[in-house]
Formats: sequence, structure tokens, C-alpha cells
Amino acid sequence: MNVLVINCGSSSLKYQLIDMVKEKVLAIGLAERIGIEGSRVKHEVSNMDKIVIEEPMKDHKDALKIVLDALVDEKHGAIKELNEINAVGHRVVHGGEKFSGSVVIDDEVIAALEECIELAPLHNPPNLIGIRACQELIPGVPMVGVFDTAFHQTMPSFSYIYPLPYELYEKYGIRKYGFHGTSHRYVSARTAKLLGKDISELKIVTCHLGNGASLAAIKDGKSIDTSMGFTPLEGLAMGTRCGDIDPAIVTFIMEKEDLDIKGINNLLNKKSGVFGISGVSSDFRDIEQAADEGNERAKLALDKFDMRVKKYIAAYAAVMGGVDAIVFTAGLGENSPVNREKICEGLEFMGVKLDREKNNIRGKETIVSTDDSKVKVLVIPTNEELMIAKDTVELL
Ligand code: ADP
Repeated sequence: MNVLVINCGSSSLKYQLIDMVKEKVLAIGLAERIGIEGSRVKHEVSNMDKIVIEEPMKDHKDALKIVLDALVDEKHGAIKELNEINAVGHRVVHGGEKFSGSVVIDDEVIAALEECIELAPLHNPPNLIGIRACQELIPGVPMVGVFDTAFHQTMPSFSYIYPLPYELYEKYGIRKYGFHGTSHRYVSARTAKLLGKDISELKIVTCHLGNGASLAAIKDGKSIDTSMGFTPLEGLAMGTRCGDIDPAIVTFIMEKEDLDIKGINNLLNKKSGVFGISGVSSDFRDIEQAADEGNERAKLALDKFDMRVKKYIAAYAAVMGGVDAIVFTAGLGENSPVNREKICEGLEFMGVKLDREKNNIRGKETIVSTDDSKVKVLVIPTNEELMIAKDTVELL
């Protein structure tokens, strides 16, 4: 069974075609700059050179058409005919309170997704466009929606409710939803497997540290708290997002800097985080390099980032009444031994003992704590696409 996994962003479409019998990626690629000048598709088939197709794409349907053509191309294709695509799995950012698991997409689901647009105005519309483009271009192929928010729907009400007037939750659905759910679910399941334990016996803190970053407290295989909130702005200091700040700062800055809603949203989402503190970059590699060269603000940004991750780890251990495993994933989590070490430093009181030698790896499934560490520390590369494909197969 071949599953096409699709992840539509505002101007991009990422895809993977996965043979689920062998769990093998047949083709992988990215359409970018959709709707703007210079649009192109980067397409790669296993054991072949990557190709770049430069063609105008006015919308996601154009992009998908080029992707499908590439998939069946005589020279660069991965399959002979489109009917070898047996199903499509779509990443959908926001499922609101309606979806606590993945679903087969039908008209009712599409209508429910439209209702969620208000909660994710930037993310859900491109996801819906991707779904509609598939309906038109490969009609009849069954589709499944996998939500970033779904895994966190198990949070107890005292985790997700904000200390605001309760009517605002009832009226507008203002509550914590959490994101990166597919990644937290994948790495926690892999953790149980690697430790040879049943997930229902484990208390795990998963740290998804990429440009966007979040932690989750996972007890008995269920998310019981997570650091992102109503939107992906809450929680850690991120590439360009501020994470937790005193909410009074928002109106203070608006007044002082004469900013409207758009202006303040832009500042908090695009100009803050480690980029805002360092003034160097939103990319952790650049900031690490600047810090190594003695840039004090770059160092301060990394210290702030690491300290906040550490703080959430300890908080989640308290929330779960202990912790058996801490897992690092995503760009920085998988690839930065230095930051993993700084985050774990000082957590010895909780039974965390990092093995510096074992920790010196990048992008490989490994246990990086010492053999006698009470709390296991792991690096697990995330694989949201495989999780989406697995859900798709399971549901169909
Ligand atoms: P997203 O999907 O949120 O864009 P990723 O999970 O791809 O993010 O992570 C991107 C981040 O990971 C970037 O800030 C990048 O600098 C960081 N990263 C990737 N490789 C390394 C590395 N070797 N060392 C430090 N940071 C890294």
C-alpha cells in the first residue's frame, strides 16, 4: 500500500510517497514559493539524484499537479500510474476540540475543519486547499486527516483551562490545545519500544526542539500537559516566537511603540525568541557559532532557551509525579549535543545523568544517559510523515 503524505503550508507543499508494506520512502519533495515568483518543486526519488522543477504555480492545485506528474514521470518518477497511490494522509494543524484522533476525510470533516479556521487562520486554510486539490486531481483516493492538536486532547481540564473568565472558553474556545502532537506521539512510542517497556508504564517528557519548539508531559501514553497553548506562541523561547511572557507587556509595548494588532502579532511571532534576544538569527546553528565567537547576546539567547526547557522538564516531572525518560527530537533536539548537555545540567537531583560521550551524536536513535541513570535520556529523530502514513493505513 502506497500512501502519499501531504503537508501544506501557506506557500509550500511538502510530500512523501511511502510504501507502507516495506515502510520505505519512495519519493520525497517540496513545492515552494507557491503563488509567488520563482516557484519550484524539489523532488527526490530513492537512489536517484534530486531534481528541481522550476514552473509557475499560482496555487496549491498547480503545485500538486506538478508533484503528481513528477511522481509518475518516466525518468524521475517513483510509480508508473497515479492509481498506485492508494491513499493520502494530510497533516492538519488544528482540529479544535472536535478531533481527538485522526479521521477519514469526508464532507462532514471538511465542514468541521472550516469551523476550525478561526482557531488557526494561517495554517488550516492551506491544509484545506491541499485536501480539495487532491479531491480534484486524484478523485476517489481515500484521504485521512492527522491533526497536530489531536494527541493533546487527553489533557485534563485543569491543564487546558486558562485562568480567564470561563465564558471566554465557552464562547470562543479559548483554552490550551497544544501542537506538534504527531511528533510527541511518535517519539514517545519509539521511546517505549527502545526501552523495551509498555508505554502505559512510563512517564515521559518529550522535547520537540526545532524552530518552533514544545514540550509534552506524557503519562501512560497520554499527553497530560504541553507547553504550546491556544496558539503555537506559548511556552518555550523559540526561533522567532517569544513563548511565555508577562501578558501585561503586550499592551505596554502596543502603547509605547504605537503598534496595532497586526504589529504586535508580528513582533511576538516573528521578531522575538532567540532571534529577538541575539539579534543574530533565528537559526540555532548561527547563534551557536556567534556565541562561540564571543557574542554575549547570542550566548544569552541560548541560555534563555536552555533554561526554559529545563524549567518545563522539571515542572512536568512534578506534574506526573516523576519521570522515567526525557526525549530530545527535531532540528536542535536531534543535532545539538551542547544544548542537550546544558539542558540536562543541574537535573542530577532528579536522577538525570547524561553520558557526555554517548551524547556526542546527531540525528540517531540513541540512549544518551549513563547506564545507571535513573531517568533515561534519549535522542529520537522525529518522523511525523511515517506517523501520518501509519494512521492513514490503520483507518482505511
Ligand atoms: P521546523 O520544522 O520547526 O522548521 P526543525 O525541526 O527543522 O524546525 O529545526 C530547525 C532548527 O534546528 C534550526 O534552528 C536549526 O538551526 C536547528 N538545527 C539543525 N541542525 C542543527 C545543528 N547541527 N546544530 C544546532 N542546531 C541545529
